[in-house]
Formats: sequence, structure tokens, C-alpha cells
Amino acid sequence: MIKIGLTGNIGSGKTTVSQVFSILQIPVYHADEESRRLLLDPAVIEKIKNTFGEGFVTQTGEVDRKALGTIVFADSHELSQLTDILHPLVIEDFREWCKSKKESIYVIHEAAIIFESGVEKDFDKIIHVSCPKEIAIQRVIERDGTTREEILKRMQFQLTDEEKADRSDWVISNDGTLMLIPQILELDKKLRAVS
Ligand code: ATP
Repeated sequence: MIKIGLTGNIGSGKTTVSQVFSILQIPVYHADEESRRLLLDPAVIEKIKNTFGEGFVTQTGEVDRKALGTIVFADSHELSQLTDILHPLVIEDFREWCKSKKESIYVIHEAAIIFESGVEKDFDKIIHVSCPKEIAIQRVIERDGTTREEILKRMQFQLTDEEKADRSDWVISNDGTLMLIPQILELDKKLRAVS
């Protein structure tokens, strides 16, 4: 089974692209969603408490994701501390998840920070969803009703779109000028051929 990393910056269209792969019956692991689940694990909560302080765990014993987001997106050191806790767990969880997908020709692991967290070696191929920053910002504002400043804060620790494209095996262009589905079908065809 081939393991594909699907990356791209905030609002580039990773979720949209992965929905098409799902329609093609390809299993998709959404790293963001799974991280949120892993943050409910008592051992992880304990690590968060020890690393960031009691203030980042609510009275009901859950990680205060909003408070954590505020500090990690303001400081790269804090962000890498969180990454060091979560990413080994996500990759381990993904490996376990793959065991139940053995009948699949290939699987997709969707994550914004594959290169930034240094996990690219865990994948056979990487697909980058490319989208100019300003278009992505506008799409996220429309999707989440958030502010440009908030989005820029989250983008500041991500590599540029160009850098990610250079380091990836394949690029899906999502700037609105090329249709997404034919590009995805083309990649699906290639992947089914090599597997
Ligand atoms: P995030 O990293 O924030 O999770 P993402 O990379 O998963 O974002 P999506 O949620 O897929 O990005 O796309 C961002 C927004 O842009 C969504 O509202 C989506 O519907 C919209 N969108 C994606 N692709 C296009 C497109 N080609 N044309 C118009 N809107 C699009």
C-alpha cells in the first residue's frame, strides 16, 4: 500500500481535494481531526499540563485548545513544543490506522504541516495543494468568518506555497483557474498504475 501525504497551507483546499479522493474510495486520514481526538487522551493532557502549565487544562480536565492556540501561534518555540508532543502520536496513530486499510491501493494523510513537522519521510509520495496566499485568505475569511490578522498569525510558521510545491512530488493547482477534479483523477490514475 502506498502512503500519500496531502499537504498545503491554510485554506489551500486540502479538505476539498481529500473529499474527492474519498469519493474515489480512497481512505483519508485527517491529521487535524485526529490530533483533536488524541488531545483527549489523559496521558497527553498530562504532558500538556507539564509543558505549558495547569492553565491550559480546563476545570473539566480537557485541554483548552483556544488558550493553547493563542500561545502557540504567537511563538515558534511554543509551537514546536506542541508539535513535539503531538506529531509522534499522530504518526503512530496513522500507522495503526493503515493496518486496517491494507486492502486499499493507496491511502492519503491530510496535514498542513508535513514538511514543517519533519514527517515527510513517513510518506511514499507527497501531493501539495497550491493556492496563492491572498486567495486562500479570502476563502478562509468566507469559510470561518475569521479575520485576516488571525489567518496571517497561523500562516507565519508555515513554509511558503512555493517551497512546499518544490519539495512535493506532485502539485494540484487550486487558484481557481484549473478545475480540481481532472487534476485529482489524473493523480489517482498514476497512483493506481504504480501500485
Ligand atoms: P484548512 O487548512 O484551514 O483546514 P484547507 O486547506 O483544508 O483549509 P478547504 O477547507 O478545502 O482548505 O478550502 C478552504 C475554503 O475554500 C473552503 O470553504 C472551500 O470550500 C473553498 N474552496 C476550496 N477550493 C475552492 C475552489 N477551487 N473554488 C472556490 N472555493 C474553494
